[in-house]
Formats: sequence, structure tokens, C-alpha cells
Amino acid sequence: MNPTEKMDASTAAREYSSAREYSPAMTAIAGEVAICQKCKLHHSRKLAVPGEGPANAEIMFIGEGPGFHENEQGRPFVGQAGKLLDELLLKINMKRSEVFIGNVVKCRPPGNRDPEPEEIQACSDYLDRQIQAINPKVIVTLGRFSMARFFPNAKISDVHGQATTVKGRLVVAMYHPAAALHQQSLRPVLEADFAKLPDLINKAGKDDNEVDTPAGSTLPTEPQKSAKQLNLF
Ligand code: URA
Ligand code: SF4
Repeated sequence: MNPTEKMDASTAAREYSSAREYSPAMTAIAGEVAICQKCKLHHSRKLAVPGEGPANAEIMFIGEGPGFHENEQGRPFVGQAGKLLDELLLKINMKRSEVFIGNVVKCRPPGNRDPEPEEIQACSDYLDRQIQAINPKVIVTLGRFSMARFFPNAKISDVHGQATTVKGRLVVAMYHPAAALHQQSLRPVLEADFAKLPDLINKAGKDDNEVDTPAGSTLPTEPQKSAKQLNLF
């Protein structure tokens, strides 16, 4: 069955959780997303892409939105950018199955256009609830739309790879893997930023973290003075 408008939320949720193992909260969100009509992206979606990963994932990657293949399969990062994401994870001895992978918008923007502000806004509650349900130690934003959710005025070239506490949780902005596919020189940059993740996960949650605000960013959720730079790198 296709989780289109004809499917109800509980059927969609059952299909989602029977395919993979999820917490009740994540399953409920996936069910709502499958039939959501809160923005116009629902008109063109084939399958919504709620995101996937273990309920207790320590690390959460947040991309931009589904592309062609994701829209076909209902799964995040299954195209070329996803292959690179898998490789980047492998290099730090992590598997896709250990991390949560989601997106800022859950339905594909037609022709892979950028998501519009009102679409990101309409979808933001789902992402907030996913973050709350998983409670990851570290959030990694992939690309500028995801970064802007946490650091609205930051420039990715300035802040990529820097760990910053937002609402008591470490958030690291990174280039989108698709950007590294288009621009070869970004690949080593992305690899170097990924290489920081194991240490960040180990040190996250310890009381003596010292974390700073990246240059040019404003934190939407807490005053800048409460953000301190991790003395790791
Ligand atoms: N790019 C994204 O930002 N998200 C996906 O799920 C796939 C590609
Ligand atoms: Fe709903 Fe998000 Fe899809 Fe828009 S993108 S229809 S808000 S799930």
C-alpha cells in the first residue's frame, strides 16, 4: 500500500514500524508525516520520508529534504549523497544503522528545488518532536537549510565542524554531502569534520564541556553567552 492521502495515520505508522524497529513516539510521527497536508509539498510527494534510525541514536544527522530516490523509497539519503554519507560514516567506524538520519522537510520539493521558508516552518514541529524523542548527544546539520534552523545567521564556510551547545545539546554544522559531490575540494573538509564526531560523542554530556558560539551565528534558543566552545580541536 502507498502511504498517500488514502492511507490513515495508524496504517502508515504500522507499516513504518513493521519495516524497521522504532519507538512508539517515532512511529507515531512517521504515521502523521505519511498523510500530512500542512504544506504544499504533499501534492507532489510519492512517499513521505520521516527519517530513520534507532530510538536511542547518539547522533542525529539532519539533511535538507528528500530527492528523487528518497521520494520513491520513503527512506532518507538513498541516492548518491547517501552513498557518500555511508562512506563518511564508515571512515569513522560507524554504520548507518547506528545513527538517525532525517531531514528538515519530509516531502520532496518538486524538481529538487530548495525548500521554501513556509514549508520548513510547517514541517518543523515534526523535527522538533523527533529530536525530543531521540534525545541525541550530538546533532549534525547537513547543508545550509538544516544549519539555519540552529544558526540562522551563520555562514557554513565559517562554522562547519564547530561544536556548539544549543539548548544543552551539541550541534555541529557540516557541508551537505551533495555539495562535496559537486565540488571535489569539499570532500576532505567533510571527512575532517566527520573525523571529529567520535570524540564529540564521547565528550558530549559531560559537565565540563566548554563550548563557544561559531562566528556570525545567533542561537535562536538560548542566549549566546551560555554557549561555550569545546576545547577539543
Ligand atoms: N539530500 C537530503 O538532504 N536528504 C535526503 O534525504 C537525500 C538527499
Ligand atoms: Fe507535511 Fe512536512 Fe510534508 Fe509539508 S513537507 S506536507 S509539513 S510532512
